[in-house]
Amino acid sequence: MRLAALFLALPLFAADYDVLIRNARVVDGSGNPWFRADVAVKDGRIAAVGKLADATARRTIDAHERIVAPGFIDVHTHVEGNVERNPRGDNFLLDGVTTVITGNCGSSQLNLAAWFDRLQKLGLGLNVASFVGHNSVRSEVMGAANRQATPEEIAKMQALVDRAMRDGAVGFSTGLEYVPGTYANTAEIVALARTAAARGGVYASHMRDEGIHEIEAITEAVEVGKQAGMPVEISHLKIDRRRVWGASGKSLALIERYRAEGVDVVVDQYPYDRASTNLGIRLPSWALADGKIKERLADPATRSKIAGEMKQNLADMGEPDYGFATVSRFASNTAYEGKTIPEISALKGRAAGLDGQIETIFDLMNAGGASMIYKLMGDADIERIMRHPFTAVASDGGVQQAGAGNPHPRSYGTNARVLGEYVRTRGVLTLEDAIRRMTSLPARTFRLRDRGLVREGMAADLVIFDPARVEDRATYAKPHQFSAGFDFVLVNGKVAVDQGKPTDARGGQPLRH
Ligand SMILES: [Zn+2]
Repeated sequence: MRLAALFLALPLFAADYDVLIRNARVVDGSGNPWFRADVAVKDGRIAAVGKLADATARRTIDAHERIVAPGFIDVHTHVEGNVERNPRGDNFLLDGVTTVITGNCGSSQLNLAAWFDRLQKLGLGLNVASFVGHNSVRSEVMGAANRQATPEEIAKMQALVDRAMRDGAVGFSTGLEYVPGTYANTAEIVALARTAAARGGVYASHMRDEGIHEIEAITEAVEVGKQAGMPVEISHLKIDRRRVWGASGKSLALIERYRAEGVDVVVDQYPYDRASTNLGIRLPSWALADGKIKERLADPATRSKIAGEMKQNLADMGEPDYGFATVSRFASNTAYEGKTIPEISALKGRAAGLDGQIETIFDLMNAGGASMIYKLMGDADIERIMRHPFTAVASDGGVQQAGAGNPHPRSYGTNARVLGEYVRTRGVLTLEDAIRRMTSLPARTFRLRDRGLVREGMAADLVIFDPARVEDRATYAKPHQFSAGFDFVLVNGKVAVDQGKPTDARGGQPLRH
């Protein structure tokens, strides 16, 4: 009797695979054209790719000729502070993302060992890797001091970088437009980058400038990589000044020249014409030193000096006023979220014009600042940067809480937007090339050696979608909309999206370099 039961149960236990995806068109991430195959998953790995007619599995998914591709690797995210509250990361999963690299733009966790342990316990939906960020390291050692670091301070910062690298960071990131990173000279960055390079790190930079002085900024980023002896990833490459729209050709030509000279430099980009960052970036950086913006704004002479520099900066940008600037998050008054600075100025009863708008910005800064969306980029530059062969697709987004604030839609729609808008509608990229930029290109840059390709032995991070249907739904006006079309997403072999619906599989894990 017991023996019979055992035999009856055997076929169930003896299934060849955990998951078997049949009738797929595989876009394997290499950039090569699709091919027909079945894909089998076992113990979190891709176990077989080919004709698997006789195979059995505990779960069979019929792809019905849809595309099976590697799960997307988003190398430019900011998930710290939000992934802890929403560890599944549905906005990423439903956009096909299975791995994020966070800690970008100089801002990261400092104790990565503790943070990774915490995430592991929470149960991640996505794989999470991290940089160690310059701004975080500098704040820890020097606060928001507007001066050069002393040799002792450099040594302390190096020790923090070294610990984070030993804890598994993929490299060192900078945010040189932000306080306090902006106060550092190139020598300081090289000194810290060397520490990361000694443990195999990559240098990722939100450069000092992304518009008028971009050529100098690219040169600095490459110089850091050359001197420290490490590859360089230029973050979210763009031209963010209307006055110099079109200059991306020069930036890309310079990057090409450095590559020809033997420097390993690549870039990433989000497919949108608006940027998103804090409000403070509109003020001269000296005004933010030591966290004393309120004191400076309270002094009439300093206040008018700040206003004067802001007007000059606007003129340099080629913007007539702050109509390009929309509040995305303002904790003190959520009624301002989704409104531009001129609109908020009018709500406050101020006369139209730049002076009133600057006063409004000062009000917001005095109330603790705001998160913003800035319309700054032109279509021609976006497409030119996207076509460059070494541009990875990356969101610059974070994990979102449905309905909270008015965030940039890139957190929800980056990959679907590239596949829908830039592949299907505009024909800027082929499907295979777009997938390569979401998978094997980022995996290659950050040495995620077992991800980014549909090959036997690789981690079973997979997406299944119909290229005729995939589309981003998140807009600037209504950002909290999941992408459509990613019918199945597997993370380390676990089904994280099942027929378009997120599950609670929590297949993700921290990825320690
Ligand atoms: Zn950035």
